Amino acid sequence: MEQEIRPFILSENNWHHLKDFRYDLAVLPWGATEAHNYHLPYGTDNYEGESLAAEAARYAWEAGGKLVVLPVIPFGVNTGQSDIYLDINLNPSTQMAILEDIISTLNRQGIKKLLIFNSHGGNDFKPLVRELGLKFPEMWICFSNWFQAMDRSEYFEEAGDHADELETSLMLHLKPELVLPRSTWGEGIAKEHRIGAFKEGWAWAERKWSEISADTGVGDPHAATAEKGERYFKATTKKIGQFMLELCKADTTRLYQ
Ligand SMILES: [Zn+2]
Repeated sequence: MEQEIRPFILSENNWHHLKDFRYDLAVLPWGATEAHNYHLPYGTDNYEGESLAAEAARYAWEAGGKLVVLPVIPFGVNTGQSDIYLDINLNPSTQMAILEDIISTLNRQGIKKLLIFNSHGGNDFKPLVRELGLKFPEMWICFSNWFQAMDRSEYFEEAGDHADELETSLMLHLKPELVLPRSTWGEGIAKEHRIGAFKEGWAWAERKWSEISADTGVGDPHAATAEKGERYFKATTKKIGQFMLELCKADTTRLYQ
């Protein structure tokens, strides 16, 4: 069966359509290339970000939103994983330069709303969005973390934040052919900080990933199933789709009541 060209996905689009079409909102998925326990692919964050953004955008598009999903940026901040083979680090200052170039294009061409669709915990867009907002006063820039959109305890049994039950379930749903068999799955046991303030979360220091986890995972993946992944994917994309639609329709000069 032939797949249809999705008008809300830039990489599938063509000049025939875009010569005269205009969007209100651009969505930029931003992932990472890094080890995900033993069993998930290095591109996990990119597959997740692309798939979630595309499905949410479909929801918003079908409800009348004029939005376009840009190609995923496949490298993220991996400063804490410098000794993990082929984890490719992009420094925050490099992210700033990439964002500034993309925003310059959007600003010049009249797409004044941008949602940075973050898919990787190590990416921190807040200081970047603050600075770029000052530099481009006509642009309205925001970011989201899809992995914080839902109450995960309604979908998953185990806690975790990297290659855990959530991510393994999602990948079993989205790309089962890229998930290694259960016998390879590590426990995802993460060591805790000896100093209390870091454990409590009011002090922060970079985690040296290779010292906190033997298999690179944080969170036990063993309760993961494709069914859990599908249920979570559907609920999350619906919620994010509604958010994207709101962004498309929002009058950014009247955001507060
Ligand atoms: Zn991940």
